[in-house]
Amino acid sequence: MKVNRRIHDLVGSSTLAITARAKELISQGKDVINCAAGEPDFDTPVFIKKAAIKAIEEGFTKYTPTVGIPPLKEAIAQKLQKDYQLSYKPSQIAVSCGAKHSVYNALQVLADEGDCVLIPSPYWVSYPEMVKLSGAKAKILATSLEANFKITPAQLRANLSGSTKILILNSPSNPTGMVYTKEELEAIAGICVERNIYVISDEIYGKLVYDTIEFVSIASLGEEIRDLTVIVNGVSKAYAMTGWRIGWTVGPQALIDAINKLQDHTTSNPTSISQMAALAALKADDTTINAMREEFQKRRDLMIRWLNQIPEIRYVPAQGAFYIFCDVSRLGDGAVLAKRMLDQINVAVIPGEGFGSSGFIRLSFATSQEKIEEGMRRIKEWIKKG
Ligand code: PMP
Repeated sequence: MKVNRRIHDLVGSSTLAITARAKELISQGKDVINCAAGEPDFDTPVFIKKAAIKAIEEGFTKYTPTVGIPPLKEAIAQKLQKDYQLSYKPSQIAVSCGAKHSVYNALQVLADEGDCVLIPSPYWVSYPEMVKLSGAKAKILATSLEANFKITPAQLRANLSGSTKILILNSPSNPTGMVYTKEELEAIAGICVERNIYVISDEIYGKLVYDTIEFVSIASLGEEIRDLTVIVNGVSKAYAMTGWRIGWTVGPQALIDAINKLQDHTTSNPTSISQMAALAALKADDTTINAMREEFQKRRDLMIRWLNQIPEIRYVPAQGAFYIFCDVSRLGDGAVLAKRMLDQINVAVIPGEGFGSSGFIRLSFATSQEKIEEGMRRIKEWIKKG
C-alpha cells in the first residue's frame, strides 16, 4: 500500500516497541524485570477515580468545549499561579488528549515548511518525528554525559540560522533525568528573546524533582520569554494518569486560539470523564504527588547504589523524572545490549538509539524497589560474566 509520504518517513517508537515485547514475555509467564517503563507503576489515586465514576454516573458523557471545560482550565491556571507564580488567563490554556498531543499541536501551529526546530539530544523519541510531521526541519543539538546532557548558550548560538524558529526544551528530561537550573535557563532565554525564537517547554516531569533540585519554568523568567514560550504539561506522570490522556498547552493567546482551531477539526475535546478526573487531581493538595515523589527518590537512590558497583557503566544521577541514562559504550551497542538483556536475563531496558544516542541505555526506576534490586543484580552479574 502506498501510504502518505510523511507517514512513510516516520520512525516507529522504540520505547513502545520494547515495552510491548516485555509485556508479551510477561504474559508468557517469563519473570521479566521491567526497567523500560515510561509511566509510573502506581495506580491512579482513588479520589481521582471516584471523580471519574461520579462524572459517568451524573451523565457528564457528552461533548465539551474543544479545548477543555472552564473549571479545568481555571484549575490549571490556579495551579500555575500557586506552584510557579505564573499568571495566565484560562483562555490561554488548551486541554488536549495527553501531553504528547499537546506537543504535536504546538508544533503543528508554530512550525512551517522551511522552518528549523532545534532539539537537544538525547531527546524524547517523539520530538523529531513530530517535527517531520509539521513539515519543518529538525536540527539536533548533541550534548554529552560530561556536559550533564545539557546544551550550552554557546552551542545554541552556534546553531542558529535565519530559519530557526523553535527550540524544544524538556526539563526534567526524558531520557536523561537532567534539570536545567534557573541560571542556565536565563542564558537560554536571553538568546531566544534576542533572536525571537519560540520555546516549546515540555514540563511534564516538573513535579518529579529530587533532593534540593528546584524546577523552574523558562516562562517564569520575564515577560519577553514568556511571550515566546508554549508550556506543555499534563496529569500523566505526576498523578499516575497516563491512560486518562489529559495534557495541555499554555501560551500566547493567538497560539492557543490556533490550537483550538486545529483541535476543532481533529480530536475535538479530550474525554469528558478524564477532564473531571484531572480537575479532581488538580484541586487536591500535593499530598499524593509528594508521596509518589518520595518513593521515586528512594528507588533512584537504590538504582544508583547498584550502578556504582558496575564500573563498566557511566551515568549522571537523575535530578528529576524517573530515568537514568547510562553510557554502556564500553560494553557495546545500546540496541544490541538491550536485546540481549531482555533475551538472556529478562531485564527490559530501552536502547539509547531512539533518543538519538547510541552506546546508551535508559534505565527506568518506575518500578518497585524489590524489582529494581533484582534487575540491577541480574545486570551486574551478567556484565561480570561477560
Ligand atoms: N513528554 C515527555 C518528555 C514524555 O516523556 C512523555 C511521556 N512519555 C510525554 C511528553 C507524553 O505524555 P502523555 O502521556 O501525557 O501524552
